[in-house]
Amino acid sequence: MEKLAIDGGAPVRATPIQVAYPGGRQIGAEEIAAVTEVLSYKSPFRYYGPEPQYTVQKFERAFAEKFGRKYALGTTSGTAALLIALKGVGVGPGDKVIVPALSFVATAGAVVAAGAVPVFAEIDDSLSLVPSEIDRLADAHTKAVVAVPLHGNPCRMEEIMQRARAHGLKVVEDVAQSCGSKYHGKYSGSYGDAAAFSMQLNKIISTGDGGVVVTDDPVVFERMARFHDQGSFREKDKYPELAGQPDIQMFGQNLRMNEMSGAVACIQLQRLDGIVASMREKKAYVKAALSDLPGVQFRTINDPDGDAGCTLCMFLPTREQAARWGEATAAEGAGWWFAYGGVPTYMIPFVRDQLTADGHYPFCLLDEPVRYYEGLCPQSEDVCCRNVEINFDPTYTQADLDDIIAIAKKVAHYVL
Ligand SMILES: *Cc1c(COP(=O)(O)O)cnc(C)c1O
Repeated sequence: MEKLAIDGGAPVRATPIQVAYPGGRQIGAEEIAAVTEVLSYKSPFRYYGPEPQYTVQKFERAFAEKFGRKYALGTTSGTAALLIALKGVGVGPGDKVIVPALSFVATAGAVVAAGAVPVFAEIDDSLSLVPSEIDRLADAHTKAVVAVPLHGNPCRMEEIMQRARAHGLKVVEDVAQSCGSKYHGKYSGSYGDAAAFSMQLNKIISTGDGGVVVTDDPVVFERMARFHDQGSFREKDKYPELAGQPDIQMFGQNLRMNEMSGAVACIQLQRLDGIVASMREKKAYVKAALSDLPGVQFRTINDPDGDAGCTLCMFLPTREQAARWGEATAAEGAGWWFAYGGVPTYMIPFVRDQLTADGHYPFCLLDEPVRYYEGLCPQSEDVCCRNVEINFDPTYTQADLDDIIAIAKKVAHYVL
């Protein structure tokens, strides 16, 4: 067999396969026309202007309907959506929030921004939170659990909801990466007290930056609307169930979505099913071709019918092999990477040392300190350091998929 490119051999691909941006690469004439229309009315703001087109409102209605939720609110980002969700369900200073050991740093970051302290729970070989961890970790200070369907794989939401409810905890779903995934026939984001989605460029549908948060609870919704808009709730009278209720008084921020993003989001939402179907098909093709690689174990998919299909993840026998695999596949032209550098969130230096813009706030609020250190979640550390994964994009051609397979087989020959 040809030598590995990393060792001076010819790479499988002359030009590397394009980075996957599933929604981003679908941007076309429809998005361009929709944004142009908003601009032509000189009405980029959602609540007023010369001739507002209410694209954000249209998006929110379509999104809530698609995901079977009563309320949706467009936001500036997924991180903003998560912060709004946490504030909506009442998370604040002095609280602890259970989060999975592995996620994008924004999951823990939003908890800290809400004034609370993240408590890390073990993940398993699905790369998502082990539901029984809720029983182990919940104490009198714990307010909520954030479930993160990582890289397309839905969480075991029924068990998570059940265990969280038994401890009186709120559940927030961080669906940033897995829009369109489902567990037992219901969308990720349709289980929790609130759920946050991202439309940043790496996510399944995209407005560049942007997010959306959903709930079924009118009081949570009013809190979210006010937190996202300087304490005001401009469309309260559009909701008959809320119209007669006393106003909630609270400071807010400005985390509002603008009308150009709303216009793009409306179109991207229409593309979601097609994007997910395409990624699932491509992933299944590659997975089948790699099913007999020696020593390789695929990630457990909590509900194979509900996988969003954006990522194929495998565990290699050792950390060293996974590191070598990442470098070698990149040199061949289709890199398979560790999720988040192969370490749990709590091993990121500023997380481990609990450093924020305010010194150690909010960590210093707890009477009994929560500490982060290597060995905190040993099972998670083991799966984090041995996973390698590759993402799928609807634009990948048959030749791209065959190259991904050829690269994996070539690298496997030398590394496994
Ligand atoms: C991307 C991401 C976020 C943050 O979304 P942004 O839109 O980038 O702010 C939050 N949580 C997870 C799990 C993510 O992957």
